[in-house]
Amino acid sequence: MGIKIMQYIITLLIIFFVLLFLVIINRKPIKKLKSKSLAPFGYRLFYTDQNTRTKRNNVIYKRILYSQKYNIQGKPDFIYKKFKTCYIIELKSGSIKDDPMPHTGDLMQLVAYFLIIEDLFGYKVKKGKLIYSDYCFVVRNTRRLRKTVLSILEDMRYMLKTGKGEANCSFVHCRYCMCKNTVCEFYNI
Ligand code: SF4
Repeated sequence: MGIKIMQYIITLLIIFFVLLFLVIINRKPIKKLKSKSLAPFGYRLFYTDQNTRTKRNNVIYKRILYSQKYNIQGKPDFIYKKFKTCYIIELKSGSIKDDPMPHTGDLMQLVAYFLIIEDLFGYKVKKGKLIYSDYCFVVRNTRRLRKTVLSILEDMRYMLKTGKGEANCSFVHCRYCMCKNTVCEFYNI
C-alpha cells in the first residue's frame, strides 16, 4: 500500500514538472515559428497600413499613430483587437534563415508600437508578430523589452541633443544594418 502511494505521488510530481516545463517553454518572450498566419482566433482587424480595395467600417486605415507620452509615432502593418486587447502584426520582406532571433531593429520597432498603441488607445497589447518571408516570431510585450526600447529612445534623444553617443558595435548587432561599411563611422569589425 505504502509503495503504491509513493508511486502515485511520484507520478503526480512528474506530471506537475512536465506541465511546469511546458508552461515555462511557452512563456518565452520571443518564439520562432514556421507558421505565418496573421492574428490569433477571435481577433478582428482594427487598423491597417496596407492598401485595400474595399474599406471596412470600424477599421482605421493608414493613419500615423502618435504617442504623446513617449513622443514617438509609427504605422504598424496590422492591429487586431479583441475586447480591449490588441495584437500587432508587422510584415518584413527579408528572410530570417537560421537566426534564432528577429533582427534587433525590427524587434525594437514592434515593441515601440506596443508602447504607442497602449498610450494612444488605452488598449492592452499582449503580443505581436514579426512575419518574415520564411519564419515568424511571436513577441510578448514584456517589461524588459519595453524598458530596452525606452532606454534606446533616451540614448537617441541624448545623441541628437548633444551630438555625443556611444555606438554598440558588434557582429551580431550590426549584421543587417545598411549603415555598416557605408556611412557608419563606428563600425570597424
Ligand atoms: S553599423 Fe553602425 S549604425 Fe549600424 S547598427 Fe552598427 S553601430 Fe549602429
